[in-house]
Amino acid sequence: RIFSRRPSAAPGMNKESPMERDAWTPSDSSQLYRVNQWGGGLFEIDGNGELLVHRGKHIADESSPPSPLWNLPQIVRDCAQRGASAPLLIRFTPIISHRLAELNRAFGQAIGEFGFNGHYQCVYPVKVNQHREVIDAFVAAARVHGGGLEAGSKAELLAVVSIADNGMPILCNGFKDATVIEMALRAIQIGRNVTIIIENPQDIDLILRAMQNIPVRPQLGLRVKLAARSAGRWQGSVGAKSKFGLNSRELETVLETLRQHDLIENCRLLHFHPGSQVNNIRNIKACIIEATRIYANLLRRGIPINTMDVGGGLAVDYTGNKNTAPSSMNYSLQEYANDVVYYMSMVCDQEQVIHPNIISESGRALVAHHSVLVVPVISSTSLDDEPAITRINDNETSLPLLELRDIIQAWDDDNVQESFHDAQQAIEMAYQLFINGHLTLSQRACAENMFSHICYLVRDKLNRSELVPSGLSGELRNLYADTYLANFSVFQSLPDHWALEHLFPIMPIHRLDERPTCSAVIGDITCDSDGVISCYLSGGVSNKSLPLHPYRAGEPYWLGIFLIGAYQEALSDDHNLFGKFHVVTVGDTVDGQASLTITAGSNLRDVLEHVHHDCRELLRQLDEDSRQAVDAGLLSSQSFAENSRFFRSCFSDYTYLADGRTGNSPPHQPHATASVGPRPARREVAK
Ligand code: PLP
Repeated sequence: RIFSRRPSAAPGMNKESPMERDAWTPSDSSQLYRVNQWGGGLFEIDGNGELLVHRGKHIADESSPPSPLWNLPQIVRDCAQRGASAPLLIRFTPIISHRLAELNRAFGQAIGEFGFNGHYQCVYPVKVNQHREVIDAFVAAARVHGGGLEAGSKAELLAVVSIADNGMPILCNGFKDATVIEMALRAIQIGRNVTIIIENPQDIDLILRAMQNIPVRPQLGLRVKLAARSAGRWQGSVGAKSKFGLNSRELETVLETLRQHDLIENCRLLHFHPGSQVNNIRNIKACIIEATRIYANLLRRGIPINTMDVGGGLAVDYTGNKNTAPSSMNYSLQEYANDVVYYMSMVCDQEQVIHPNIISESGRALVAHHSVLVVPVISSTSLDDEPAITRINDNETSLPLLELRDIIQAWDDDNVQESFHDAQQAIEMAYQLFINGHLTLSQRACAENMFSHICYLVRDKLNRSELVPSGLSGELRNLYADTYLANFSVFQSLPDHWALEHLFPIMPIHRLDERPTCSAVIGDITCDSDGVISCYLSGGVSNKSLPLHPYRAGEPYWLGIFLIGAYQEALSDDHNLFGKFHVVTVGDTVDGQASLTITAGSNLRDVLEHVHHDCRELLRQLDEDSRQAVDAGLLSSQSFAENSRFFRSCFSDYTYLADGRTGNSPPHQPHATASVGPRPARREVAK
């Protein structure tokens, strides 16, 4: 059978590429999935083909002892043994501390190099990930490295003023009402270091009114709109038309009001935000220059601002390509720090004003790396078998069917590309004719069958060829990609991918010493066709499918989705009511060992109550109807009791599918936070 041979995952790749060589090593996987390019030095593959995660310290300080490594698949196995099967969201909280140290190190270096007189602090905007574990990890790190918290809503502010230490800077941003301002003032009364940022002129009225009842004179910040436009997917939050910040006219009015109320002395901070994931460093420079001119002007007018808050915007290189594509960035962390410090000092020196302290509200760059979502593949479908050719009737007159038949009959191995394109046109025409009522269902089936057969002929030819047109191999690979169903929801876990096609690194976390011979598209378990991952990063470019290993039913096959710590959890929605994953928090114990804490994910009761269902009422209805079924003789009394027990137990079930859909997953423990032993298995990497 000429079509029985499985194609390579990437037909037409260069013979020298790792996909084509006989032996496959973990370092080939590392190259294929570009671990070193996007991983920020935090991930590597061990000799057994398993993915390891670094704590991160080694990168900041070469002389420090080698950082501990966590074995990701081993964590997943340990959690399964303790009753929490994948899907799992795994948080490596020490990575947050590492990223904060890296930010401080980069700014420290820039400040030293350019003789800058101010100091730097990172203020974490909690909207990027409000989970308690994340804020706690940041606060613990800030006690060592310095840092503060930023809140953009009432709920965030309440959490932040409660969690922050006295003295730690707290920025109160966003739209405000009387309660927000009162909360800020009362927090100041108990010793918190809150700065209220005036984002629009109405904020002042609220502040003045609250000050009549609470005798506190708060520190104030001014958020300005810059004319400099940003770039990237989130550029709408900047520029003269953005909904945030004061334009120059409003700034003048606000300053006048503050002067009238003797509050100019309280203006200590100037804030702007250049947008998130700013992928081109030129946009950062432009914003810094413009904002520093404003700072200098204000200073010369006697407004005692001593801090410039440069907002967020520091990007994460999700693809590792170091370019200006939306999921990448064309600069390093050090270049960002250098440019912020250099351009700020340049303008200050030109304007002959003192250097300010610097705050950055870097959210994405701080927390994106710390969490990994591990999703199990639960099935795969493949178009691997050769389709039997359906003969068309002798009296067939429909053009596309005749065309497809002719392509097969006159098959020419030297003209594959043209044949493939002709076949594509014919099948599209066949679909159109069917829609218009000119083709029967059997004719359509016959056309589809011949088209599949032609695709097999093309694919077979490509597998035997040395040189393959790359466009054709890509088209075919996508057409013939297998579908791997994974136990998660794209809507819930990767909202930025679903809405914006933002790329996240995805790769298997084990079997990495084995050649990935399939090309696959990953679908989720929601009942929507856009519940798929529609583009992947492989071999450095965005592709419609991802090289994966053959799925073996009954054996675990875990995929890791990386760099999801920023925004994805905060934006996730209720689609299909999948709710929260089991969360595994990996941290350090006091004696420096790793600790693993599992917080159980959502159960059916949680997600139903979240959308206002009364679970007792749902059960009552089921019981009542079951009783009527007994009365009508449709159900025995024994089945009634079994049904009732079953429905009751469903409410405490994990919302994601049970292991292998066989129903053999360990019982779900609703919302227990269980510390599960002193440390997960952890192996030192063989270097
Ligand atoms: N600060 C403000 C005011 C923001 O609106 C945002 C996000 O858009 C951030 C900080 C965080 O930005 P990033 O995650 O790019 O660091």
